[in-house]
Amino acid sequence: MKKLIFTLAAAAVALTSSAQHYYTNANNPEMLHIGTPRTQQRTNIVIPQINGYNVYKADLHTHTIYSDAHVSMTVRLAEAWRDGLDIYAVTEHAEYRPHEKDYIKWLKGYLPEETKAENYNIVSKKGNKNGIRVDLNLPYQLATKSAEKYGITVIPGIEITRSPSKVGHYNALFIKDANSIYDADPEQAIRNAREQGAIVMHNHPGWTRKNLDMIAFEQRVYDQGLIDGVEIMNGTEFYPKAIDRAKQYNLFMASNTDIHHTTAELYAANGELRDMTFILAKDCSLESIREALEAKRTLAYSFGTVAGDEELLRALFLASVKFTPTQSNKERSYIQLENNSSIDFIIRQAEGANTVVLKRHSSILLRCAKGEGKQITIENLWCGADKKIVIDISSYLK
Ligand SMILES: [Zn+2]
Ligand SMILES: [Zn+2]
Repeated sequence: MKKLIFTLAAAAVALTSSAQHYYTNANNPEMLHIGTPRTQQRTNIVIPQINGYNVYKADLHTHTIYSDAHVSMTVRLAEAWRDGLDIYAVTEHAEYRPHEKDYIKWLKGYLPEETKAENYNIVSKKGNKNGIRVDLNLPYQLATKSAEKYGITVIPGIEITRSPSKVGHYNALFIKDANSIYDADPEQAIRNAREQGAIVMHNHPGWTRKNLDMIAFEQRVYDQGLIDGVEIMNGTEFYPKAIDRAKQYNLFMASNTDIHHTTAELYAANGELRDMTFILAKDCSLESIREALEAKRTLAYSFGTVAGDEELLRALFLASVKFTPTQSNKERSYIQLENNSSIDFIIRQAEGANTVVLKRHSSILLRCAKGEGKQITIENLWCGADKKIVIDISSYLK
């Protein structure tokens, strides 16, 4: 009963507080608006400069109603801005666009009666001679228009989409003409994209697979140098072995949402930032982003875990965290660790010891017993399938 009274009291407070905000309407003085003014709010994700480069937040893998997702491009770009992104890649499926049947029904008055959707699903079978009939360049045009007011850089791209068990999915980024990429032979489709100057990323390498072993098609395109990057994370999927593969084939490492619903449902509702690829670049122009991807200056972020090149991850940690030695006595010394980034760091002082969390924009005091190990492991910074970043703290000890 006591609990019930408390709940009712809390509800009453909530109801009155939300009703306290009234806003007048210039056109109609007899009408008030209730609630908060319609100002859009952006989450600012703070990562200090790394090695002199700005850290831009990108989603290199997205979908809208123009392939198989459920929201418009306008909503996607507003969402990207609210989520703190600087870069949005348009990567609709070239071969899978299930909404087309409905669009044709919707446009019935404009189209000849017999018009049927065709070639909207050629993931595992060949399309007919008509090829892909819709304008695959439209999504990019709509995205650039929506992105203008947010100052988001849009990368033109497309997802080459075939059987996940026989071929896999590949995002071609920085394409020039989405309509001339499709080919019945997926390897030729990748080549068509590369002829346009595209950078090619291998998507979700573990999706629907039993393990991370490369299938024959992957092996062939990797060996021919047709692949430039790989997703280490895709949504909630994390493929640690892909870190080693990226190192072996010199690929940029990415983490992307592959968003089909909304990030509000999948991330914000749980207090999480969306998956994103940190791109270390001079500025946010297409040229600089491209240069950074070619130079493999990226890190993959997903649900608080960051994966990437060892030196870049170490630089990320040292740029984010300031070490200040404080008290020291015969038994122990203390170091204050101040985290100036939006990433939480999970720190382990010794093998088997409990971890401590150095939260975003917070400080902790690290107690180091004299004679104990002088290295800390950052458990959420992955630089290999089974390797985390280790930081030597001996120079910070008094
Ligand atoms: Zn895919
Ligand atoms: Zn996708």
